[in-house]
Amino acid sequence: MSQPVLLIDNPATGERLAERAADDAASVAAKAVRARSAQPGWAARSLAERCAVVARFRAGVEGELETLARTLTAEVGKPIGQARNELRAFLGRVDFFLGAVERATADETVLDEGGMREQITHDPLGVVANISAWNYPWFVGGNVFVPALLTGNAVLYKPSEYATLTGLHVGRLLHAAGVPPDVFAVLVGGGATGAALLEQPVDGVFFTGSAATGKRIAAAVGPRLARLQLELGGKDPTYVCDDADPKTAAESLADGAMYNTGQSCCSVERIYVHERLHDAFAEAFVATVRGYAIGDPTRDDTYIGPLTRAPQLEVLEQHVADAVARGARLACGGHRLQRPGNWFEPTVLTHVDHTMAVMRDESFGPIIGIQAVADDDEAVRLMNDTRYGLTAGVYTPDGARARRVLSRVRAGSVYWNCCDRVSPRLPWTGVGDSGVGVTLSTYGIQAFTRLRAWHLRSA
Ligand code: NAD
Repeated sequence: MSQPVLLIDNPATGERLAERAADDAASVAAKAVRARSAQPGWAARSLAERCAVVARFRAGVEGELETLARTLTAEVGKPIGQARNELRAFLGRVDFFLGAVERATADETVLDEGGMREQITHDPLGVVANISAWNYPWFVGGNVFVPALLTGNAVLYKPSEYATLTGLHVGRLLHAAGVPPDVFAVLVGGGATGAALLEQPVDGVFFTGSAATGKRIAAAVGPRLARLQLELGGKDPTYVCDDADPKTAAESLADGAMYNTGQSCCSVERIYVHERLHDAFAEAFVATVRGYAIGDPTRDDTYIGPLTRAPQLEVLEQHVADAVARGARLACGGHRLQRPGNWFEPTVLTHVDHTMAVMRDESFGPIIGIQAVADDDEAVRLMNDTRYGLTAGVYTPDGARARRVLSRVRAGSVYWNCCDRVSPRLPWTGVGDSGVGVTLSTYGIQAFTRLRAWHLRSA
């Protein structure tokens, strides 16, 4: 049988960018076998040695930052300034992992008396599968492969089929830095390659992607009893209280909804505004959105680029049509741009409610619904009316009020007067359909280790 080929297109122009040989079931199995035999040697190296290798990788990424940013822009359509931002912030995440791994995985003595010692140590899981999304490939891939490698695991990395060139750069730079080729293997391809990876006897599956795929993966991995983490989507809400400044909140939230062309797992996807502020807020929001430069993502001043995936255009069209049919008002945008590539206008819908798909299903594009609410209780009820629970936010000058509201909302991360923010120092987790497990923070390093309990009697 001939080897499958992956076609890579530029989403801004529709032009063919590259073709790459894809992995089939046989090559995936071969890489898994080689990873299994290479992993003990990697784990046997000292932590200091593994850190030195990852630090060299970091230097390699920094040295090629502009080329890597341009690759990212070409294959996912991310505006170049935002591609550079992702890479710079990725370097910060690597620094966090390098600084925290020793503390996170240090041996711990929890009892030492009468000749009896109890200790906890961390072993690597072994061979882990890292199946990744395209929207922030450096972030979501790196949240897994950096701590996994630091803690002594071998990694079978399947980048998204929409971010393959970036994934191949990751492999090249890790190998150049000294990670043995069999300890970090890139698997090229789409869902079929990912499914073939799940057939292998791996010790952990770390997945970032949609809730629908995540559930398929959970069903496939469940019977194997491997460690499973799922970082999935969201329908992230924010509430603007009546004491907030509508213009400041609108400018911040427009950025939270539209940055990365609305294709962030923690993009603001629903906005509830106190009814007294609704009109002023909506007006300021639309004015901000109208000021965004949309177009060629290779230009420094572009803020909104194309959608990465063409099928999402139909989802956005359906969200708009469904909302308008049910009584929403289209305040701006609402249509595809008629040009080659995957272009959709930044879109604001007001007078929305929860009968509409745009307030229930992940849009994953430059589109937002704004709904008026009467008070904090109604806002909390609506924020929790979702199967997701990734992030949620509130805008108010009153810190005590923010804490009261946010503590009642079901979400892994909560924001006061900010949004669409991820910190390497804090755990990144989801509730409900937003996933299970944790990346980032010291907890997201320990996720790649298995605890060993030592009962040691000296005599
Ligand atoms: P996706 O689910 O379509 O694909 C994710 C990955 O799974 C890809 O590598 C794909 O090839 C692979 N895959 C598809 N079918 C598979 C199968 N049957 N078996 C194994 N692997 C398979 O998601 P996407 O479009 O790449 O990413 C967008 C989604 O990711 C959004 O829902 C977004 O919210 C979510 N996301 C979440 C986070 C987070 O941290 N929570 C971060 C980024 C993106």
